[in-house]
Amino acid sequence: MPIERVLIAGAGPVGLVAAANLVRSGVPVTVFESGRDLSEESRASTFHPPTLDMLDRLGAAKPLIAQGLVTPQFQYRTKQHGILAQFDFTAISDVTGHPYRVQCEQSRLTRILYDQLQTQPGFALEFDTSVQHVTRNRDGVEIAVCRQGRVETRTGRWLIGADGARSDVRRSLGIEFEGFTWPERFLVVSTPFEFCNVIPGLVAVSYVADPQRWHFLLQIPGLCRVMFPIAPHESDELVLTPAFVQSLMSTIVPGISKYEVAHVTLYKVHQRVAKIFQLGRAFLAGDAAHINNPLGGMGMNGGIHDAMNLTTRLADVWHGRTPETESANYDRERRLVTLEYIERQSIQNKRNLESDGVEFMRTLQHIAADQERTREYLLRVSMIASLRRAAELGGDQ
Ligand SMILES: Cc1cc2nc3c(=O)[nH]c(=O)nc-3n(C[C@H](O)[C@H](O)[C@H](O)COP(=O)(O)OP(=O)(O)OC[C@H]3O[C@@H](n4cnc5c(N)ncnc54)[C@H](O)[C@@H]3O)c2cc1C
Repeated sequence: MPIERVLIAGAGPVGLVAAANLVRSGVPVTVFESGRDLSEESRASTFHPPTLDMLDRLGAAKPLIAQGLVTPQFQYRTKQHGILAQFDFTAISDVTGHPYRVQCEQSRLTRILYDQLQTQPGFALEFDTSVQHVTRNRDGVEIAVCRQGRVETRTGRWLIGADGARSDVRRSLGIEFEGFTWPERFLVVSTPFEFCNVIPGLVAVSYVADPQRWHFLLQIPGLCRVMFPIAPHESDELVLTPAFVQSLMSTIVPGISKYEVAHVTLYKVHQRVAKIFQLGRAFLAGDAAHINNPLGGMGMNGGIHDAMNLTTRLADVWHGRTPETESANYDRERRLVTLEYIERQSIQNKRNLESDGVEFMRTLQHIAADQERTREYLLRVSMIASLRRAAELGGDQ
């Protein structure tokens, strides 16, 4: 007989949102996290409007907003033409309680959720414990966890694999991670430099298209994150030297060639989607289920949408409001939406930025010239359209 609780692998944003929604619904959970503490890595930093609406239901939006930057506007530029178009989420304030992005490191969200969950009786989190192997049976799941070199067995009614892109849960379930890796890597340089003092009309999120080397500027509290593509022939060793980093930064504003650099991250970029998101009572969510390039900030947001969709269903099954078979809709809705929106849009965003900007400018001007097209565009980039599509497929968002 399985222990009556939900097991979650991974205490990243997706695992902890899943835990928070279950605990709030009266479903007990145990989260296993291989790290000794929550990750402090500098990674995703954009929260989209519908994600903030969801976090609000968990009581996490207000403290996150208090620590982040509220940014209603974003813009596209080219080095040659300056601003191509600028958009404002205020135009969709009738469909979201948060008509803006919040720029804030994902580690702030995990800390907020963990602090809130710790006082809840149905919540347990075991650090330094990695999920290694999954065995499914008729009534539940059995997992092997490794803690300080000792392997122990735990059982639960369901398992959520939210253990990131290299998911051990996905590997143990034998689920393929279909897709490809881009030949270029992305370099993120964080600097306290205030670009708004030297670039006229700059807003907190600014994408700059360029066929040689695009970049984008993303303001978070106290820092600006600048992202550049790195060509396959540019070695990691070269790219990570201070001289190379400064040479890239010097292309942003003519005449400024020396920047204070807080940190630099170089990483590989993939577009991959798991072949299935559910196998019996085991589920994949977040990066364990899908990864994409970060242009448009849809990776973590999509993962949070997975977590809310899945755990709302599981809570309904737990309380006897819907049959167990209903949980299969999670796979159908979220996988399709991932393919149709997140993967497609993030690939298009990359192609737009690496273009010469001419066709891109025409498209943007066409959108910006018409209120209805602007609205449709904002619904798409804010990810509201993807959630509506999931609802059309039979969901309950
Ligand atoms: C360098 C970098 C920069 C990024 N920048 C952006 C960005 O700008 N915008 C954007 O949208 N996305 C970005 N992403 C992606 C974004 O960070 C992810 O989409 C997001 O973290 C997904 O959350 P998650 O909870 O699914 O996975 P993760 O955040 O990876 O969390 C998984 C957790 O599981 C733990 N874990 C791993 N294996 C096990 C195991 N076997 N057992 C138990 N625990 C385990 C890990 O320690 C981790 O805490 C970036 C990613 C990287 C790597």
